[in-house]
Amino acid sequence: VIERCRALGFAEAGVCQATPTAFADELRAWLASGEHGSMDYLARHAALRVDPRLVLPGARSIVMVADLYESRGTRGEGPKASSVKLGVDAAGGVLGRIARYARGRDYHEVIKRRLHALADELRAEFAGDGAEFRVFVDTAPVLEREHAARCGLGWIGKHTLAIHPRLGSYTLLGGVLTTLDLSPPTERHAVTDHCGTCTRCIDACPTRAITPYHVDARRCISYLTIERRGMIDPEFHRAIGDRIFGCDVCQEVCPHNSPREASDALGERIEANPEYSPRRDGFDLLAVLDWREEDRRREFSGTSLKRATLVMMKRNAAIALGNAAAAGKIRPNAACERLRTITHDEQEPEIVRSTARRVLDDLEKE
Ligand code: SF4
Ligand code: SF4
Repeated sequence: VIERCRALGFAEAGVCQATPTAFADELRAWLASGEHGSMDYLARHAALRVDPRLVLPGARSIVMVADLYESRGTRGEGPKASSVKLGVDAAGGVLGRIARYARGRDYHEVIKRRLHALADELRAEFAGDGAEFRVFVDTAPVLEREHAARCGLGWIGKHTLAIHPRLGSYTLLGGVLTTLDLSPPTERHAVTDHCGTCTRCIDACPTRAITPYHVDARRCISYLTIERRGMIDPEFHRAIGDRIFGCDVCQEVCPHNSPREASDALGERIEANPEYSPRRDGFDLLAVLDWREEDRRREFSGTSLKRATLVMMKRNAAIALGNAAAAGKIRPNAACERLRTITHDEQEPEIVRSTARRVLDDLEKE
């Protein structure tokens, strides 16, 4: 199965038994404390999340796969410079940054297509057994990172993301739940936690969202910009910086993403999957503030950026524009003028107008 996954282009794959999570108490405590913010779906499906056999009755095994979407230390603000300079675009506009995983093709499509091919092959081979399969890429209440770790695809770092010892953490996960018994020698493949005494991600997080092995989603810029649909607490406006979709800081500072060739267990070099080659690193903030729904659809087509609505993107762009003005990347007068226009525009949704008003007030105080 693992060889077949490699042939399908996955950077890494593994198999584990479909057993309940070892973190049920932690999950329940995290949900009970409200740290999942407005991601109600996490609480709604909590009972399923703790046991994959409730997601697919009779499930006995899980095949987990990982795609590498970014080579270690080769782009962005990490050790080597980005191919596209963030901050200012070619036309002199101010760019709002998007998270690396969202810069290329939609990973849901890229991964799901190949997992269905894998399931079809297994189904054909074991048709007589009446085996069942359920493919998932963020699409089922399954604790993907934990199962990936149990499959030997890495350990869960202090920032709560999966880190593969040779690939780093710029990976996207997916899997197949099946009633087949693939009899994996799971524990033998468990990867040792290599975080050690390091606290780089904790120290670098702009909103102090991380405590060891724990993230308060309500403070995390990824949650605030991609998941949260309401207003963003002004407490976080400055920390958001130029990010309008997600945040990569805790991964950029991680030593396990340092420049080094990614390789497989045999030392063979692994390249980032070209399907994720960046189409762009960001969007012009003033252009986003002018978008209509058809502009958002066109710009986001084929990418995982689709998760953010037009209102969310404009809200995020208003915050980033204020930060750009405060940092001297755009003339404060130009930013204030644009924000003022939004506050008076009755066609704009209330969240966008209120956000612009608050950003404007803060700029005018400075
Ligand atoms: S994604 Fe950004 S805000 Fe969220 S935990 Fe990582 S560094 Fe902090
Ligand atoms: S930055 Fe350090 S503590 Fe954080 S995940 Fe990476 S190795 Fe672990």
